[in-house]
Amino acid sequence: MRALDAEVIEHGHCVAAEEFSRAISYEDMATGGAVIVFGPDRDMLEAAENFLEFFADESCGQCTPCRIGSTRGVEVIDKIRNGDNRDANLLLLEDLCETMVDGSLCAMGGMTPFPVQSAIKYFPEDFQRKPSMEGSKDKGV
Ligand code: SF4
Repeated sequence: MRALDAEVIEHGHCVAAEEFSRAISYEDMATGGAVIVFGPDRDMLEAAENFLEFFADESCGQCTPCRIGSTRGVEVIDKIRNGDNRDANLLLLEDLCETMVDGSLCAMGGMTPFPVQSAIKYFPEDFQRKPSMEGSKDKGV
């Protein structure tokens, strides 16, 4: 059982349960109009991957960090899930996210990594789990 009760995505960031006292407002946690609440059993590695897949489809393709970054991010997350050189691929994923934040032309590409970065920060255990023998993925965000 995880210590966290639930997880929220706001403005592209994951927020852990210990921050639930914060206010959804322009002054504190501004949202883009949507808040997603996950239960304690949600695998945040899968959630991060689902967000990257979504934004890979949404990218207009004008700049390389966004056009390639989300797709590469999905591939790297797959390797992390499978335990393939996990620590090195986790570092690679963090580098990739920084490159997207710093190098994307518009806010969409620059914000795409936020759910991934905050998932790694707040739910690191989900990125260290042993590979599942079932190999199945829940595709629901
Ligand atoms: S960051 Fe913006 S300009 Fe660059 S590919 Fe993504 S959507 Fe297009």
